[in-house]
Parts: sequence; structure tokens; C-alpha cells
Amino acid sequence: MDKKPLKTADPAIYDLIQAELSRRRTVLEMIPSENHTSLAVLEASGSILTDKYSEGYPGKRYYAGNEYIDKIENLAISRAKQAFGVPHANVQAYSGTPANFAVHFAVCQAGDPIMGQNLLDGGHLTHGWKTSFSGAFYKSVQYHVKADGYIDFDEARALAREHKPKLIWVGASAYARQFPFKEMAEIADEVGAFLAADIAHIAGLVLGGAHPSPVPYAHIVTTTTHKTLRGPRGALIMATEKGLQKDPELGDKIDKAVFPGLQGGPHNHQTAAIAVALGEAMWPDFKTYAHQVVSNAKALAQSLMARGLKLVSNGTDNHLMLVDLTPFAKGLGVFAQDALDKAGITLNKNTIPQDPSSPFYPSGIRLGTPAITTRGMKEKEMEQIGAWIAEVVQEVQDRRLPETKEERSVYLKQFARDIAENEKLKEIKKKVEELCSQFPLPY
Ligand SMILES: *Cc1c(COP(=O)(O)O)cnc(C)c1O
Repeated sequence: MDKKPLKTADPAIYDLIQAELSRRRTVLEMIPSENHTSLAVLEASGSILTDKYSEGYPGKRYYAGNEYIDKIENLAISRAKQAFGVPHANVQAYSGTPANFAVHFAVCQAGDPIMGQNLLDGGHLTHGWKTSFSGAFYKSVQYHVKADGYIDFDEARALAREHKPKLIWVGASAYARQFPFKEMAEIADEVGAFLAADIAHIAGLVLGGAHPSPVPYAHIVTTTTHKTLRGPRGALIMATEKGLQKDPELGDKIDKAVFPGLQGGPHNHQTAAIAVALGEAMWPDFKTYAHQVVSNAKALAQSLMARGLKLVSNGTDNHLMLVDLTPFAKGLGVFAQDALDKAGITLNKNTIPQDPSSPFYPSGIRLGTPAITTRGMKEKEMEQIGAWIAEVVQEVQDRRLPETKEERSVYLKQFARDIAENEKLKEIKKKVEELCSQFPLPY
């Protein structure tokens, strides 16, 4: 086989990767679940380890030739245990969704009651939403956030007493406040449930000491590795001391749920890159990074609110915030998202608590600071970015989503043409590009 580099072997894919790289260089990546990894993480995840089969666990493989793979996986496991302070870690889950599937598989029977935060209130699909395995295979009940944007644990307690869930999830994808691990643990302990903390979004903040750890309170902790943790796509599933006290077999059950329960061979290139990312997260400068992510989010929130934008819960404790656009109109999220995209600011439309519109046409936008903090931006830049966002929102605040499907499609097409020609957006995009050029990507 020819030893051709990608550039000559497959120019079509090569060029698209380069185009994606240029896009990323010139935009403010503010989707709060994204980040820019280090060169070292990229190198490990693009390595020759992708070739190897190693079904099973270190020392107990179904294939030969795994002496180095075993060492790599053991390093990833020991770093995860050390970083989070847990006695058991599984590093094989392909991503956050299969990791959460494995948790259900480990501690529940099909049809058992489970409980999680409602998707439209910021929760994750895998915590019991109807279109996910977790809502289809289990009897799911969902708790909500209150009108003030904070988790309603009185409701959660009442639901837990009524439905006696086997498994309770705490953790979410669009929640701007600290998670009430202690309160949710009291509820889980009262009804004898396993408490699983899904810290997919905030794992990097937890490791950097910028968000309290769930480890003293939860039995199980899951996380993706590619969000604030700044590693490759992947996930960790951990059992805590408290979890092993509740069920000494818990670690074993988790491992068996991942393999052979729902996966085959582990993705060893990911495992290696996870080990690298965990190594990086234990360096002192990662603490600085995690705290800067939160300081930046607070500065950005201030900048937005000072310009009259309303934030769910009036601010943030972590890396993200939700802008509630209902003071202008319902269903404005898509307009703001697409106009901001044109201005070089990438974020996503999102439901807000008790959204008067629909999940596809929600009334808010969600944005965060992990990736732009990786580039080195600080409070001063946040103030400026907040001003640009407010200016873009001003360009779309008078839009109204038509009621019928046909009207909507025509209206949105015209909207796309309008924003492509909008001079204000072009002007902001230029300034965004200038700012980005001063803060290079880590690769
Ligand atoms: C992102 C996320 C996941 C799922 O991660 P994928 O890797 O996209 O499958 C799970 N839980 C929460 C809370 C998340 O935010």
C-alpha cells in the first residue's frame, strides 16, 4: 500500500478538513459543549492505535498483541481515578450517550422507573426523554426547573417518593447554575435509588476546582471527555466509594454493561487521547483555565444583561448561559442563531424553561466560554463579544415566526437572504475575524 499523506491520497477530504480549520480559525466558537483540543490530544486520537482490536479489559482480552494497549488503557484508568478521586473508572464508552446507556444497563432492568431532568428544561436526552432509549425502555419521570431557572428539588422529591425510581440522574446540558448534588443525593438516598451525576458539560470545571465535585454524593459519575475536559470524543463512567458501599459489584456491573453489554472493541486511539487529556487536566495551568472559563462566562453574562438581554436565572455559575428572547417574541432562537452565525459567532438555539414555542423553534439561545477561553480570551474580550451579540439580536428582534408550516418556510428563506446581505452583520464579522486572528487555535 502506498504511503501517501492525506493531501495526495484523498484531496477531497483533505481540502474539506482544511476548510473546516479555516472556518474555526475565524469564528468565535461559543457552543458550550465544544472546545479546541491540544495538539497532543489530536496526535493521540489520530494515531495508529485505531488499528487494534482489544475486546475485553486490560489483562483479559479476547485478542493477542495487546501488551501496549493494556498499558495505555491502564494509564487512562489510573489517571481518571486519580483526577476525580474515585475507586473505579471505565474509559471505553464510545461517547456520552452509550456511557449513559451502560449505566441504565448496569443498575436497572428494562421497565424499571428512572428519573432525570426534563429535556426542555436543559436536561439530556439520555436521562429519560421519550425519543431516547432511556424513555423507551424504562418508565421515566422527569423533574423540571422552576420559573426562576433553578432545579425544582421539591418536585423531584415528590416524584421520587411517588415513583420510587431505581436510578436518578443529576446533570444537564443547558443549565447555568451549580448542580445541587447534595440535595439530589438526599432524595436518592431516601428512596434507595442510585444517584448518577452526569457531568458531561462541567467535568473540566470540576477537575479545575471551578465547580463542586459530585463524587462525595453520587454513586456513579459519567462524563463526556470532549467538552470542558478538552479531550477527544469519548466518555468516562466512574463508581464512587459511596457507590461501591451501596453495591460492591457496581464497578464490575458497569464494565460488563459496556462490554459485552453494548459495545465491541474499544477505540484505543480515543483511550490514549483521553489519557493525554486527563494528564493535561491535572496540570496547575488547567486550574487557571477552568477558573477563567467561569470568570469569562460571568463577564459575558454581565455584558449581555447590561445591554438589556434577559438571561435564564439572571446569570451563570458555570461556563454557559441561556438568553431568553421572549421579551421580544417567542420562537426567536433560530433567527438569533442564524444571524449570529453570519456574524462569525457560533452558538445554538435552545429552549428556555416553560418555552412558549417548540423545541425546533425555541425561544432562546445557549452560549458558553470553554472554546474561546482555550484561545486565551479574557474578560475584556467578553465585554466586546457581549456587545456584538446584543447588536446582532437587535437586528432580528422584530422578526416574528409565522404560524403555519408553509408560511414559515417562505419566511425563513427570505430571512436567510436578508441576513446574507445585512451590512451590520458583515461589519461585525470583520471585527470578529480580527479578534480571532489575535487568539490562535492550539493547533
Ligand atoms: C453531551 C452530553 C451527553 C452526551 O454526549 P454525546 O457524546 O453527544 O453522546 C450526555 N449527557 C450530557 C449532560 C451531555 O451534555
